[in-house]
Amino acid sequence: MKVALVTGGSRGIGAAAAVELARLGYAVAVNYKSNSEAAESVCNEIRSLGGVAEAFQADISDSRALDRMFSEIHSGLGEISVLVNNAGVAYIGLLQDMSDNEIKSLSDVNLMGAMLVTRRAVPDMLRRHDGVIINIASMWGEVGASCEVVYSACKAGIIGFTKAFSKELGPSGIRVNCVSPGVIDTDMNSELTDETISELCEETPLLRIGTPSDVGKTIAFLASDEASFITGQVISVNGGII
Ligand code: NAP
Repeated sequence: MKVALVTGGSRGIGAAAAVELARLGYAVAVNYKSNSEAAESVCNEIRSLGGVAEAFQADISDSRALDRMFSEIHSGLGEISVLVNNAGVAYIGLLQDMSDNEIKSLSDVNLMGAMLVTRRAVPDMLRRHDGVIINIASMWGEVGASCEVVYSACKAGIIGFTKAFSKELGPSGIRVNCVSPGVIDTDMNSELTDETISELCEETPLLRIGTPSDVGKTIAFLASDEASFITGQVISVNGGII
């Protein structure tokens, strides 16, 4: 059974991606940072569908934790064929009010973390001449958001990382793409008021915000052989808002 690793697979978009990849027949490594209960519940949902899943704890910005997690995944499930770099954190505020540490830790998770995880997944893919990497960006990485400057810069970095890495890995049979969500109904947006949500719906040509499943299904498509000639692309899943 081929293995897919979803970082931040315990909630929101990552959880939906984990379920969709399990439906495609992948054994899923569900990574999480601290919410083991949520990660176990995603694994149980996958098992109830007849699939295979295991939860693996690691902070993706911590190299030592990643080394441990990769060896646990290798012995628990096997080599990774599909990597979904999804784990991320939001921060709303003015750049001048952020401390050096806040800027660094946001970048360490949202940009550097994806590279640290990818660096560990790629050697097996290169040896097999087969693999798929899907990075989760954001519409703010495409157009920029006021009060989310560091987050936007990280997501723009994820887009650049995707484009460059697809060129580096294409000749080795590995595809690298990016999914760029708009506003999606997850815990990340739990601070938004009902009024803000309805304004966002009105601004969106499809008149709604997205669901985790909207994004999870796109991730599964990119992982599948149906997408075998797609690499280096940014696929926006945003209801047309930008
Ligand atoms: P979410 O509901 O807040 O879930 C975040 C997930 O990331 C959780 O599984 C969390 O694990 C994990 N995580 C956070 N920091 C981590 C770390 N340092 N190491 C490992 N795992 C970590 O987020 P979401 O809305 O699904 O967002 C998923 C991705 O989509 C993010 O990259 C986000 O930037 C992007 N995105 C979201 C939206 C949106 O509107 N929601 C829009 C555009 C892009 P625990 O459960 O253990 O905390």
